[in-house]
Amino acid sequence: MEPAVVCNNQSNGDDIIQWFEDVSENAELVQTQTLRRILELNWGVEYLKKWLGDVEIDEVDECALESLYTSLVPLVSHADLEPYIQRIANGDSAPLLTQQPMTTLSLSSGTTEGRQKYVPFTRHSAQTTLQIFRLAAAYRSRVYPTREGGKILEFIYSSKQFKTRGGLTAGTATTHYYASQEFKIKQETTKSFTCSPEEVISSGDNKQATYCHLLLGLFFSDHVEFITSTFAYSIVQSFVTFEELWRDLCIDIRDGSLSKRINVPKVRKSVLDIISPNPKLASKIEAACEELEDLDWFGLVPKLWPNAKYVYSIMTGSMQPYLKKLRRYAADVPLVSAEYGSTESWIGVNVDPCLPPEDVTFAVVPTFSYFEFIPLYRHEQDCNLAVDDFIEDKPVPLSQVKVGQQYEIVLTTFTGLYRYRLGDVVEVAGFHRGTPKLNFICRRKLILTVNIDKNTEKDLQIVVERGSQLLSKSRAELIDFTSHADVVNQPGHYIIYWEIKGDVEDMVLGECCREMDASFVDHGYVVSRRSNSIGPLELRIVEKGTFKKILEYFIGNGSALSQFKTPRCTSNNVLLSILNLCTIKRVYSTAYA
Ligand code: AMP
Repeated sequence: MEPAVVCNNQSNGDDIIQWFEDVSENAELVQTQTLRRILELNWGVEYLKKWLGDVEIDEVDECALESLYTSLVPLVSHADLEPYIQRIANGDSAPLLTQQPMTTLSLSSGTTEGRQKYVPFTRHSAQTTLQIFRLAAAYRSRVYPTREGGKILEFIYSSKQFKTRGGLTAGTATTHYYASQEFKIKQETTKSFTCSPEEVISSGDNKQATYCHLLLGLFFSDHVEFITSTFAYSIVQSFVTFEELWRDLCIDIRDGSLSKRINVPKVRKSVLDIISPNPKLASKIEAACEELEDLDWFGLVPKLWPNAKYVYSIMTGSMQPYLKKLRRYAADVPLVSAEYGSTESWIGVNVDPCLPPEDVTFAVVPTFSYFEFIPLYRHEQDCNLAVDDFIEDKPVPLSQVKVGQQYEIVLTTFTGLYRYRLGDVVEVAGFHRGTPKLNFICRRKLILTVNIDKNTEKDLQIVVERGSQLLSKSRAELIDFTSHADVVNQPGHYIIYWEIKGDVEDMVLGECCREMDASFVDHGYVVSRRSNSIGPLELRIVEKGTFKKILEYFIGNGSALSQFKTPRCTSNNVLLSILNLCTIKRVYSTAYA
């Protein structure tokens, strides 16, 4: 079922695509086999014994095993498995979730739910990461071929690995991956090397790492074949930093020196070992930046990295709001949306890299995990007693999903998660041979609710998009946003926080606020606004740099910049106090007045 791990460039791409075409064609069978493999590997672990008792696996055929498993093992959330994971973290070495002893735990970003979670990580996790990266690279190189031996400007960051009470290594999944053998194998097999040395990636100081990524990316500018990061946010942030620091970067390129702001000795040494004085390049970049400044940095990517074929990163879901800014930087350089996965498991690959990020879908890789899909239906008018955001049906296997239907994904992984609700809502857009192509819709959890209203991250995103379009009247732009449902003051109401670049008249802000309030189409919200059981929407403008402070707060609590996603709704007291202290203006909606 697995593709050959290492082979070289061109044939490599064709091999892995052929492998994927085959497993997609037979996705139904491959899923049944994948479940059997997971269960064979972990048969007898405490958790499975609890549900499956002493059934002999060898006596059950594949199809019977699938129905036995899904009828006896319950659907769970992370909270249900947490006691087991905590025992593992505390050093219990009995086979609890997996037969192989667990030596590593990953931290999910937690920025979507506000709390980081431990998730099991095994060698299999790093191997599937390598596999999906190679597969995705093969599809990309069909459309956008790159030169062998070229460089990649990667805005990637490891956070610190640490030991749990029981002595297991813990850190983010990306951190484990960058430290793994597989990361080196990826560079060697694709014959493309990241501009920055390992010391920069793992420096532990994101500001210093960003400066070095930019410096080395510029130093190798003619060799850079594409620009990437895990989430689009990091690329945008790095270019915003570039707008501020390009003069210092040019000095370092001219003199072969390194700014004093880089004070981690091993990082300094690793960078200084690479760069050398290049006055000609420095002058070229300076001239380009002076021109770019006048254009408000439109076309920064092609101007500074003339051989870059594309910009590659996760641009869907909560990253969509950064697309506008990224498009300005990239101008005519294509934006390619990266794969869909989570700390728990990789899920799908972008097999149509030439599609714009808004239209991208992810073809599920049926060997990575055993996938189930819970059909979700929106409540219609009856919202009075609704406690949840969707009505659910019984989960179906991958082979039974329907085009146009929305589902929550359930995972059974090689790392010991059994029928685990991921909390993501996806929609089936079509099929790639026999495997579904998914549209990422949003996180399942309701984010904004005061009483009977129900609005998801996606709903909020649409509303903010509409409101912020009016900013163009003032030639201003939205930098970032979040929200909060204030239920302390009566009547409760939504607060949307905006950080904007440029000066905007109060009248325009008032229009933006009104537009957003009127754009929430959820029936519960509309009814409540009409009856004033939800008060007028409030728009709070925060000062420049507020969202950087939020990022720093998360990083200070162990999140990795590579995984950071701005929480689109928060009730976290620290975050709210940062936002409220930084508020410089408040505007109330006049819609429904
Ligand atoms: P983490 O908790 O850091 O592992 O983040 C995983 C979550 O990020 C997923 O469950 C999704 O909600 C989101 N995510 C990952 N990949 C994508 C993608 N390509 N598009 C949209 N959202 C994504």
